[in-house]
Amino acid sequence: MIEIDGAAGEGGGQLLRTSLALSMCTGQPFSMNRIRAGRAKPGLMRQHLGCVIAAAEISGAQVQGAELNSQSLSFAPGKPRAGDYRFHLGTAGSCGLLLQTLWPALMMANGPSRLSLGGGTHNPAAPPFHFLARSYAPLLARLGAKAELNLLRMGFYPAGGGEIEARIWPAADQLEPFDLIARGAPGASYAECHAPALPRAVARRELEHLGEALGWTADQLRVAATRQHEGPGNALLATLEHEQVCEVFTRFGVKGLTAETVAQELARDVRAYLDSDAALGPYLADQWALPLALAVWRRDQPAQYTCTELTAHARSNFGVIGQFLPVRFSAAPLGAGWRVKAEPA
Ligand code: AMP
Repeated sequence: MIEIDGAAGEGGGQLLRTSLALSMCTGQPFSMNRIRAGRAKPGLMRQHLGCVIAAAEISGAQVQGAELNSQSLSFAPGKPRAGDYRFHLGTAGSCGLLLQTLWPALMMANGPSRLSLGGGTHNPAAPPFHFLARSYAPLLARLGAKAELNLLRMGFYPAGGGEIEARIWPAADQLEPFDLIARGAPGASYAECHAPALPRAVARRELEHLGEALGWTADQLRVAATRQHEGPGNALLATLEHEQVCEVFTRFGVKGLTAETVAQELARDVRAYLDSDAALGPYLADQWALPLALAVWRRDQPAQYTCTELTAHARSNFGVIGQFLPVRFSAAPLGAGWRVKAEPA
């Protein structure tokens, strides 16, 4: 039984999700104490409980402590089963975080799977759908793990009501680690505002401010079409394509925040990325570690990447991954960023 200290490092839900994912991939049971002890509302929130329940279902796990607010959990998985699953979180629990919990196990399973996930598709402090579809999924595909993501309906905090569909194909025998050092030549960069249930003028103002701040032209600024039954919500996204990687940065408009402020916050994220040569931005830097470590483990081959920032999320993810897999992460400053190495231990 692997023992995870839920309060270690960054101490958030990511420790739990990484543990669930790698427990299912390796068949090793784990117990976790002090779950999210440092957060304002410690223990399992509905969002985390949803991940535990879904993980237990796809792997036939035996679980103790799967209750709201629980600060300890034990999880003993069986073999993950490919199949068709539907998990709807209610409220605006993040579909993206749930998907990232289940994805590694299903790509290591022995057949294709189809997931229908409901809840929030564009949440603060979680990977939004467009980030997963444009940034994360293509990198996984390059590792050998193919998936297809569809956005059926957007869901925002706090109402939720969004839905995504994911198809995941088996990849255990194809995984091949690769180095991601340079982002490569720039491709298209564009911004879009998804603001269902708000006047289009709000979206246009955010985009105009962003265009001014970044020197982007009108053809790079798009008000997204809305689907039926969406909203209310307001997500401003900037997508930066490069030869080797695509980054998506997201900020949310909320009541009381001016269009200009939302645009300026997003412009700051984009500039911070462009001011560095590193391949991955701050979010990919922590999320890339898990799939890469699986490939490093399967092939017994090292791999590296560069990132603009090394966040507390990244460092604590490296620690938990090392408790499940014989893979050691190390990081060293490089230019205006970091170089991260993942090596067989
Ligand atoms: P936690 O705070 O432990 O629940 O983990 C949050 C996860 O969401 C981390 O993996 C972050 O990298 C990810 N995340 C947060 N904000 C964004 C964003 N704007 N785009 C992509 N990923 C994000």
